[in-house]
Amino acid sequence: MPRPSAVRLSHFLPSLLLLIAGLSAAYVKDLNVFFTSLFNVLPTLVLLLGGAYCAVYRRQRELFLMLTVYIAYYLLDTQTDYYRDNGKVRDDAAVVFHLCCLLLPLLFAIFAAWQERTHLFQDMLARFAVLLAVGSVALALEQSYPQALLMWLAEIRWPAVHGAWMSLIQLAYPVFIAAFLLLAWQYWRHPRPLHAAQLVGLLGLFWMLPETFILPFTLNIMCSQVMLMIATAVAHEAYQMAFRDELTGLPGRRALNERMQRLGRNYVLAMSDVDHFKKFNDTHGHDVGDQVLRLVASKLSRVGGGGRAYRYGGEEFAVVFAGKTLEECLPHLEFIRESIATYNIHLRNQDSRPQDDQQGRQRRAGASASSVSVTVSIGVAERLEQRTPDRVLKSADEALYSAKGAGRNCVVVFGQNRRGAVRMEAATD
Ligand code: GH3
Ligand code: MG
Ligand code: MG
Repeated sequence: MPRPSAVRLSHFLPSLLLLIAGLSAAYVKDLNVFFTSLFNVLPTLVLLLGGAYCAVYRRQRELFLMLTVYIAYYLLDTQTDYYRDNGKVRDDAAVVFHLCCLLLPLLFAIFAAWQERTHLFQDMLARFAVLLAVGSVALALEQSYPQALLMWLAEIRWPAVHGAWMSLIQLAYPVFIAAFLLLAWQYWRHPRPLHAAQLVGLLGLFWMLPETFILPFTLNIMCSQVMLMIATAVAHEAYQMAFRDELTGLPGRRALNERMQRLGRNYVLAMSDVDHFKKFNDTHGHDVGDQVLRLVASKLSRVGGGGRAYRYGGEEFAVVFAGKTLEECLPHLEFIRESIATYNIHLRNQDSRPQDDQQGRQRRAGASASSVSVTVSIGVAERLEQRTPDRVLKSADEALYSAKGAGRNCVVVFGQNRRGAVRMEAATD
């Protein structure tokens, strides 16, 4: 299901930076010996490192994307080297270049949109078979009918839309456009760093091809950058897997542990726990339970006062207020507690989903029979003299335990009595 809220600039940022770096490097004139040597080995180096990296993570899709880019690089590099050394292009330059313009976006799109579903080995074989089939057909045609193939590729099929600015064969443009639309749709459906990198990578290749024989090292630089974008996206996703909780989208326990190492002198930690959640799950099912956890997480992620929420585990969430005092944080925690308690969650089933936001709001306001609500209990602790973050978190946990004992749906401060609690019975009570 499309989740526009999950579309993030951060998915595109590493690839866009690599693209900009590639564009800038390609326009630099009179490169010194160091950079010329570097750019000569860079694509191979990136393929080896990135390929090994993808293999370790068992990411075949990315591996084959890199291979496709590398093969195109290799074929075109042979041509540009000849052109640089002899001042003229090789006899087969036109047909090889046009084939690359057509097949590179085509194979890039196929491998980019081809999800890994089957057994790893079968998946690899299938991808390899596609690469081999396309490559051998192209090679056979190029060897047997070079002239006919060249004419077919270079033919202007649609004179009405042909422009002088078109430096690639006409056929390449619809393929690039189709590939771009496919990858954009894929990102929209599943917004994740890899899909963003594929989209930006395709743009990089589209820019690179017309410049291949014009700007020296464009080919080496842009192919390396596109392969790097893919490798970086694998790293980005691995980082997200380790530090983000998949269900709620909040940073997870590992991220909290890291954050706790970097807390300054003053901070406040809060632990919150959904009340009677086991009973809630038993009554409404795990799916509805998950829906509620997402809701609680989204409320907590918007806590004011500079607080940052983490999923601690299960139905427990931690909130970190760095550089804050207890007095500064309490009103925000109380506000969140109350906003969760007063929020009616409309139980979704496929037949009764609201048609639009307006209808959804009306239904929530109406609090129909199929709506439920949950409450959370919160324990808070402030850093006092000579206490480690772990001890403070433990104190917050003890305060949470007291909040449960005090009847739930309240905020309790460690070492103090229950504060500002507005008792509301949970719907599952
Ligand atoms: P209390 O008010 O004392 O906290 O009671 P409780 O029932 O919430 O306490 P308990 O810790 O025994 O129950 C936690 C439940 O949370 C158990 C488990 O079924 C549920 N839970 C943990 N993680 C998830 C999750 O990811 N999804 C769903 N749906 N339920 C979860
Ligand atoms: Mg619990
Ligand atoms: Mg609980």
